[in-house]
Amino acid sequence: CGIVGYIGNEQAAPILLDGLSKLEYRGYDSAGIAVYNGAEIAVAKSRGRLHVLSELTQEGKSLPGTSGIGHTRWATHGSPSDQNAHPHVNKEESIVVVHNGIIENYLKLKKKLEKKGYEFQSETDTEVIAHLLDDYYKGNPLEAITKIMHRMEGSYALGILFKDHPGELYAVRKDSPLIVGRTDGGNIIASDVPAVLKYTRDVVFIENEEIVKMTKEELSFFTVDEEPIEKTTTRIEWDV
Ligand code: GLU
Repeated sequence: CGIVGYIGNEQAAPILLDGLSKLEYRGYDSAGIAVYNGAEIAVAKSRGRLHVLSELTQEGKSLPGTSGIGHTRWATHGSPSDQNAHPHVNKEESIVVVHNGIIENYLKLKKKLEKKGYEFQSETDTEVIAHLLDDYYKGNPLEAITKIMHRMEGSYALGILFKDHPGELYAVRKDSPLIVGRTDGGNIIASDVPAVLKYTRDVVFIENEEIVKMTKEELSFFTVDEEPIEKTTTRIEWDV
């Protein structure tokens, strides 16, 4: 029910865990993070409260790396379980996804993907996103993301890492909230402003069907037609 993502100079896991704690008010039954250290994308996830995930990852220390995504799940499709917790991955674990929302046509997509040989590890609607991305991915993350947007019906805020694009983090939303925060030496995504206020007050509000490409230095924004767009940064003056 909440997503976060970080890419920058700092260790990602503690920032992800802290950001998720600020989204607890949204409610959740499971939590997970994925952190990329440039060689492997490590995933830790569990049913239960955030402290379970914190203990599992030694407050994030067992997952070193400077980019990552995180999730608190409020189960809509598939029971609350370790297996159904996000992040979800493709078979090679080279594409990793967190998702807030509901993919309404996931059964149809799942059946088509299964016919193509894709095997599912969870009961979630979200897992189709990882395999659908895999199916469309030919080396250009932005192209694969716009292609799946044309196939998915429903609501989504997504954080996505591609193993062969280290130094990049992608996000997109439709009918689920998503904001981006600019920090010195890094950038953060989150479902809501309180998750980033500890790190920055400079926030970009993402609109429906807008895609974000983040590196630690740069933010770029695109339409579903892969056209670049300009976005304004808002200075947040209020406190939580
Ligand atoms: N529909 C997804 C699931 O059940 C995401 C739910 C959420 O937004 O937390 O796994």
